[in-house]
Amino acid sequence: MVQQTMTIDARQVQQLEATSVLQVYRRIPVVLVRGEGSHLFDADGKEYIDLLSGIGVASLGHAHPGLADALAAQARELLHTSNLFFHPLQGQVASALADLSGLDRAFFTNSGTEAVEACLKFARRFWFTNGSPRRTELVAFDRSFHGRTFGALSVTSGAPYREPFEPLVPGVTFISPDDPASLHRAASDRTAAIIVEPIQGEGGVWPLSAAMSTAIRTTCAETGALLIADEIQCGLGRTGRPFHSAALDLKPDLMPLGKALGGGVPVGAALMTERVAEAIAFGDHGSTYGGNLLACRAALVFLGALQDGLVDRVDTAGARVEARLRLLAERYDVIKEIRGSGLMWGLDLDESVAERMVGTALKHGLIINRTAGTVIRLLPPLTISDDDIDAGLDRLDSALESAIAGGT
Ligand code: PLP
Repeated sequence: MVQQTMTIDARQVQQLEATSVLQVYRRIPVVLVRGEGSHLFDADGKEYIDLLSGIGVASLGHAHPGLADALAAQARELLHTSNLFFHPLQGQVASALADLSGLDRAFFTNSGTEAVEACLKFARRFWFTNGSPRRTELVAFDRSFHGRTFGALSVTSGAPYREPFEPLVPGVTFISPDDPASLHRAASDRTAAIIVEPIQGEGGVWPLSAAMSTAIRTTCAETGALLIADEIQCGLGRTGRPFHSAALDLKPDLMPLGKALGGGVPVGAALMTERVAEAIAFGDHGSTYGGNLLACRAALVFLGALQDGLVDRVDTAGARVEARLRLLAERYDVIKEIRGSGLMWGLDLDESVAERMVGTALKHGLIINRTAGTVIRLLPPLTISDDDIDAGLDRLDSALESAIAGGT
C-alpha cells in the first residue's frame, strides 16, 4: 500500500528504503522533511544550514513562496499535455534562455544528463546533415562529469563510473585540463565536438584555465569542431554571471542546462545556435515529459528571479563567502586549496579530514558535500542571505576544528 503520511518516523524510513530502494546511493543517515530558505529540518526537528541546495538545484532556497504559489496554480490548471501540442509556456522559457545566453533555441529535457545526451546527438546530427557523417568523434576532459547515460557517460572521465558499463560510445579522446597543447593534438577534422565544463563540479570544483579556454577557442576555429559548454552545475547565475563560459570568452554552439533551472522541479534544456538548429529535423529527438507545464512554470519563476537581480546578488554573496573561506584557509593548514567562483566553491583538504567532514558538519547543523575524495563542495541556494552565509561559515569553521581534532 502506498503511504502518504506526513508524520515521518526516521527509523522506519531507513528500514523501508534498505529493503525496497535500489542501493546505489550510500545515504547520509538523515531524513530531511522540511525546508525554509537556506534552512532544512530533519524528522527529529533538528535545523541545518544548507550549503548544498540538493547539489545546486534548490536555487531559490527551500519552500520559496513565489515558486510554491506558481506550482500550485499550475497544478490546478494543467500539468502535462506532452510535446505533441503547442505549449503555452515553452516559448517563454526558451526565449528567456536565449536572452540570457545569446544562443537561439532550446530543446527541453527532464534532467541535466538528458540535456547532455541531446547536445551530443545534435552535434552528430549537425555533421551528418552538413555532409560529414563520419565526423563523429568527441574530445572531453579528465575529471569531467556529464552524466551516466551511455552518451553522457562516454564523455565522463572517471573509471569507476565507466568500467562496469563498457563498451561505451566510441571515438572519445580525453585530455588533461592542464595541458592546452594536447587539445591541438586530440582534435581534428574528425572531431564533431569538444565538451567542457567551464568549472568542473563533480571532479572537484576546478575552474577551466584561461590557457585552456584560449586553446579551445583556437582549436574550434581551426578544426570547425562544435563547442558544447556544460553549464549544468556552474551556469544560470551560480558563479555571479548568467553563464560561466562567457567569463572565459567561450562561445558555445550547444549548452546543456539543468539543476538550478527548475529550483527543484526536474527540468533541463539543450540550448543551441540557429546554425545547429537548422541541421535538426522533425522527429530527430523527443521526450514525453521534457519541459512540461509544471517544469516550465518553475523555470519561469527562476528565470524571473535571475532577471530581477539575482545574478548580481550571487556576485556579492560570493565575495562574502570567498573572503570567509580565505580566512579559514589561513587558519587551517589542512586546507590545501580553495577553488571556485560566486556560490560554487571547493575546499581541497587532507584526505583524512575530508572523509570526516560531511558527518562532522551534520552534527554542527550544516549540510555540505564531499566530491572527488578530498574536496568539500559548497553550492548554497543562490538566494542565501548574508546572515545565513555568516552562520553557515561559522558552523563550517567549528566542523573543521572538530574534524581536524579527529572527532565529530
Ligand atoms: N553535467 C554536469 C556538469 C553535472 O554537474 C551533472 C550533475 O551533477 C550532470 C551533467 C548530470 O545532471 P543530472 O544529474 O541532472 O542528470
